Parts: sequence; structure tokens; C-alpha cells
Amino acid sequence: MTYPINVLVNLPVHANISGPLTYLHTQSLEAGTLVRVPFGKSEVLGIVWHAPSDEHGQPLPVDNWVQVNSGTLIKGPAPKSPLVLKQISSVIEGIKAIDLQWLDLVGFAARYYQRSLGEMALQALPPQLRDLDATQIARRLKKSSDRKKPPQSKPTDTPRDSEVQSVEAVLGYPVQTAHTLTREQEQAVRMIQTQDGAFLIFGSTGSGKTEVYLQCVQSTLANDPLAQVLVMVPEINLTPQLEERFKTRFAPLLNHWGASSLVSMHSAMTPAQRLQSWLAAHSGVARIILGTRMSIFASLPHLKLIVVDEEHDPSYKQQEGARYSARDLAVYRAKQLGIKVILGSATPSLESWHHAQNTHDIAHPSKYQLIAMPSRIGQASMPKVQIIDLNRQPRGTVFSKELLEAIKTRVQRGEQALILLNRRGYAPVLHCQDCEWKSACLHCSAYRVFHKVDRTLRCHHCGVVERVPRHCPSCGNADISPLGKGTEQLEELLHDLLADVRQANGEPLNILRIDADSTRLKGALNNQLAQVHSGEVNILVGTQMIAKGHDFRRMTLVAALYPDTALFSSDFRAPERLFSLLLQAAGRAGRDADLSTSSPSEMWIQTQYPEHPLFEALRHYDYPQFAAQQLSERAQGYLPPFSFQALIRADARSQTDAQLFLNTARERSAEVLEEIRRQRPNSQSPWLKIEPTLYPAIPMTLQRIANIERAQMLIECESRLMMQEYLKLWQHHLHQLQPQFKGVVRWVVDVDPLTI
Ligand code: ADP
Ligand code: ZN
Ligand code: ZN
Repeated sequence: MTYPINVLVNLPVHANISGPLTYLHTQSLEAGTLVRVPFGKSEVLGIVWHAPSDEHGQPLPVDNWVQVNSGTLIKGPAPKSPLVLKQISSVIEGIKAIDLQWLDLVGFAARYYQRSLGEMALQALPPQLRDLDATQIARRLKKSSDRKKPPQSKPTDTPRDSEVQSVEAVLGYPVQTAHTLTREQEQAVRMIQTQDGAFLIFGSTGSGKTEVYLQCVQSTLANDPLAQVLVMVPEINLTPQLEERFKTRFAPLLNHWGASSLVSMHSAMTPAQRLQSWLAAHSGVARIILGTRMSIFASLPHLKLIVVDEEHDPSYKQQEGARYSARDLAVYRAKQLGIKVILGSATPSLESWHHAQNTHDIAHPSKYQLIAMPSRIGQASMPKVQIIDLNRQPRGTVFSKELLEAIKTRVQRGEQALILLNRRGYAPVLHCQDCEWKSACLHCSAYRVFHKVDRTLRCHHCGVVERVPRHCPSCGNADISPLGKGTEQLEELLHDLLADVRQANGEPLNILRIDADSTRLKGALNNQLAQVHSGEVNILVGTQMIAKGHDFRRMTLVAALYPDTALFSSDFRAPERLFSLLLQAAGRAGRDADLSTSSPSEMWIQTQYPEHPLFEALRHYDYPQFAAQQLSERAQGYLPPFSFQALIRADARSQTDAQLFLNTARERSAEVLEEIRRQRPNSQSPWLKIEPTLYPAIPMTLQRIANIERAQMLIECESRLMMQEYLKLWQHHLHQLQPQFKGVVRWVVDVDPLTI
């Protein structure tokens, strides 16, 4: 007999097919089974979405189905003509079917982020699984099967509700004794262990959040002999540090379980490593999974806890292809599985903060439980904020005298300073004083940045690199000069300004720069970070890369040089990001209480707007005050989290094309709404009455990149459900319209966009 099987494959976007395709097979297959199927001229990986069955769940052979309706079969009388469907080429042996919860997660993500099911599902798998054929995969599997088998479920005494057994008791192996928890840590751990749901730990940098995660991971593993836990961090460069901490803490357990019981998942791993980690997670062998945003899609059949560290970090949002938020999907996944999820941050996203506020309404309790951990570990306190008013400094001041003195004092005592400037290169612009020539990029609406190290002008957007011209390309003047400052120039300037200063041991100062340029080579970043940790670096200059997460023990001074641009950005999230960046940066200082006892550590800010409420809130590290002020502005403006947003972005040969395309699609709005309501003739659902607002198309802030003009249209809606339905149907119109707009190269939908 032959059975129809609906299979997800990664279809090209322009196919405009969002569901599975139907293939035939000699037997019915379980949903989640990996298969190879013919597609076009090639063979590709597919995932069985479902095999049609009768009302008793029995698979139905193909004779019972008649119609192929955009890939799906409809039950009916015997077909008049045989179906022209292709056979599945092979079933991938040795990998058990991915579970239904995973398929549901992928289905939700596809619907919510407006991507096709196949794309969502297939991009969530390690690339080698897609690229290798069945025999090659079989070989890989054989290789890894030598490793430990998954643990067998063995009956243990179920722990009483309030009493959590230690991993020690379950396994008879000691776990390295942790610190004595602080009261705040203890309360946090107890609350998470005894209650259900989603938790938001609002904890200062250095308050010991990671320790809370470790404790919760430990009790989760102890409570269930098969449990898997997923711990996410925003950046790849934070994973080694985290991995180290988990390995040290759980060493005896990991030894007992085998090498694959702790795995990492991030994009800097080789394809072979990624496949190994994925298989370890999928088979249940991996018990602790540490990863960046992509790990939210790992197949984890026994997932029991998710931790999202630094939950506010924009890196959790994928910025190309399927633009999902791993943080939001983590919350979804936890809810779906009925497990706990812990979000942690010193500066929660305003969305999460809002969801954790007491609603004073029993019928609508807050979505997340708030756990506050305001104190830093030990005697360490947050650095004292020093604000320098640049208006009172001589024009062109880069380092105020006061700041320079403070840096000197610190480094002479053997302490470290961190200088933050969010702009790499030597100078953002080169210009000619005679004719006003500026180093504009010919292909983008941006300036090429001057890099002195290799004397190049580089466009950070399209990547064009050129030698610095000797003379002004426009008037021939030999005197062209840098405008503005980048990290390279700061490094040079500090060398000059501090040339006479010596370290405690009499050696000259060691100034290190860390940014995307200094870390281009593999391993460079880890090397550089190691130099900072070892204490051989006196002053660290860098971009936001160094502001996050790192536990620099000897850092006692942090300075942010020009934070002002974000204050007046057209992006309503800019202040939130700035506050969080400055607070995270401040959190790098004063982590070692002993160093701060002689004189408290310092956070310096040089600004032209010293009175700005953002700096005022920062002065007292008063995130709640800042958040309350921002949220009230957002509420007035109907901005998220009080409404939902989506962006449609069009790339085209001309700005007119891009805008016209979007604006024409906008005119179909009434039709789309009508369609949505027509599909639900008898529904009284209140969301059906809500209409989204579509703003006219505008050029993007960076209007042109690599000669492509970019425009965007903002959509706002009070109802999440309406937004979803609307976007789904409206996209068909976009697909339909695109051929009429020859200049339009591509368009994308970004749901819950982070930058506007
Ligand atoms: P966070 O994740 O909130 O920034 P960490 O968990 O990294 O904080 O803790 C900061 C430092 O304090 C780390 O070096 C950690 O080892 C240490 N630490 C954490 N909890 C305790 C504790 N209860 N007693 C002593 N030291 C602790
Ligand atoms: Zn000139
Ligand atoms: Zn360019």
C-alpha cells in the first residue's frame, strides 16, 4: 500500500507556499521523522509534518484521498485519476522522530514570525543534517554511538514538594560545594523551586544571578533522572566563560554521564560539532545545553528548565531570514511544556519588566514573577557615577582633565580602567577643509570610516575598502583630516596623554583595544580577554562588545565618552538600549570588593546633557525609575508593550519603487480586513473589531546600502492575534503585487522589530 505523507521542506520564499508538501511512501511515517525527498532537480532533507489518518488515528492509504489542495490532501471518494505525487527517497535511519512539541514550537514560530513552516523547521536543524545524505549521516551516527548511551529512567523516590533532593542523593556522586548562598540568592532559588511559571530575576550585575541559575539547574537535574536544561546567553563570546562555570560545578556528574552530557550550541562551532551537539541533545544524552539564540530550536525531548541570561539583549532577536526572538520563544516553549523559564537581567527589557509588574488584579495576574536581587555579592557596590559636563570643558575635549587624573590614579595602583566608545575605526569621517569634501561611500548613504592601522577608508555597511587618498579627491588639497573619534584614535590618544605614567612595577602602560576590528581573527577575542583577566592590561578601550557579561576582577573605573547620540534618536528604543549599555558597562567595575574598599570604583560619563533624566536615573542606578518613566511615555504613544508592531521593509533599485510598492500594498488593507472577517462569519471575538494602523512608507534611516534603496512601513495593532492574521493575508497581496514593481528586489516582514 502507498501512504500520503506531508513533509516540510525548505522552499524558496518566492514559492509563496507556507505549508508542507505531500509525498508518497510505502508505509506511514511518524510525525517528526527525518526523510530525504526529491525536490526540483535535487534531493533535500525533509521533516514529516504529519501523515493523514482516519478518525481512529489509523494511517490511510492514498486511495482514500482525492485532492491535493496546496500540498494537503482532502479526504473523499476514490480519485478519478491517480495522484501525481513523488515518492520519499529515503528515511534517515538511526535518528528517532523529533517530538510533537518541537513541531508545535516550529509551527508557532512560523505563524508568528510570518515565515513558511518548512523554512522555520529546516533552519532550526544543524546544517550538516541538511547537507549530508542518508549514508553519510549513518556514518556520523556510528561514530557518536561509541559515546555514552542516554541514562535509563530509574525509579527514584519522588521528592516531596517543598524538599528538593540533591543530585548527590540521586546519583551518589558529590557535587562540588557551592558558595553559601546570600539571602537574596536563597530566596530566589526557593521561589523558583516551589512555584511555577516564568520568572524575571531583576538582579544587579554581580548579584550572583549565575549562581541562582546553577542552583536551579542542579535541582532540576536532581528531580528528574532524564531532565535536560537549556541555558541561553546572548553572545558567543560569553559561552566559554559560562561553559567553564558549569563544567567546574557539575564535574562529577558530567564525568558520570559522559563527555556529551554538556554541549554548547552556537554559530562559531564547526558544522561537525554542531551536528554532534544536536544529536546529543536530541537523543537525551546532553543534559545541560548552553547556547546562543539558535539553541532555542534544539530538539530536547526531556527539557525541564530554560534560563535566558541577559534577557534584554538585542542579540536574542535574529536579524535576518526568520526574524524570531529566542527570548520570546523561550517563554512560549516553557509554557507549552509546562516547565519553568528564568529570565535574568540587571536592566530587563521594558516588555519583560512590564509583564512582571504587579497588576493588582487577581483575574489577570502578572505574566512573570518578579524576583529582585539588588545587592552585589560581598561588600562590592556599584561604582560611583561621575558626570562630566562637556559644555564646561574646552572645545574638542576627548578626555576631561578630571577623568584623565582618575585613570592615572587607578592604573598606578595596579587597577584597571575600561573606556567605552561605540564607534570603531580611527575617525568616522575624513574631510577636506578647503572644499567640504567628505569620505562618503559611493554606494551607501553613509560615510566611509578612516582606519589608520592600515590606512584605509572602509564602509561599514557595504564593506568597500579603499586606500586613503593622499590628496582631496575633489580639489587636490593635501590637507585632509579626520573628523570625530573612533576607538583606534582613543587608543593612540591615551598612549600620548599617559606616556609618562608607569604601572606599579615601573613598566610602561599596557593599553588594549577590543572591537570588531581587533577580534577579526579566530581566537583573537579570547586571547585579548585573557590578557585583561590576567591583569596585564591596564586600560581597555573598546565598543559595546566589552561592556557585557565579563567578570573582570581588577576593573575599578569605567568611562563612557560620547553617549549622547542615542538620547535624540528617532528610534524609541534607543534610550532603553543606552541605559542598559551604560549600566552593564558600569557593572564591569567594582566586582572585587577588596579593591574598592580604599576608594569606591567609578563610572564616568562625559556628556553635553548632564541634566538628562536618563543620566539622572543612572546616577542612582535606578532602573525602576527609568523604566517607569519610559513606560509612561510608551503608554501615551501606544508603543510596545502597549501595542504590537511589525515592519515591512522593501529593497528596490529606487526609493520611489520601494515606497510605491509598500504604499500600493497598503491600499489593499480594507480587502484584507474584509477577508479576515469573512472567514469567521459568526465570530464575536473582540479582536476582529480591532484594525491595525499602517503608516505610509518612509525611507529607512540608512536609506541606501550597496546601491539598494531601502524603505519601510510600520504597522501597529493593539491585538496580537489580529496582527498575525492580518500579516498572513496581507503577505499574499505583497506576493501578488511584487511582479508589477520590477524595481523591487525583495521585501521582508519583521514582527516585533527591535530597531525602527
Ligand atoms: P551575575 O551573574 O549576577 O553578574 P555572578 O553569579 O557572576 O553574578 O556572581 C558574581 C561573582 O560573585 C562571581 O565571581 C561568583 O562566583 C561570586 N558569587 C556568586 N554567589 C556567591 C556567594 N553566594 N558567595 C560568594 N561569592 C559568590
Ligand atoms: Zn577638497
Ligand atoms: Zn558603502
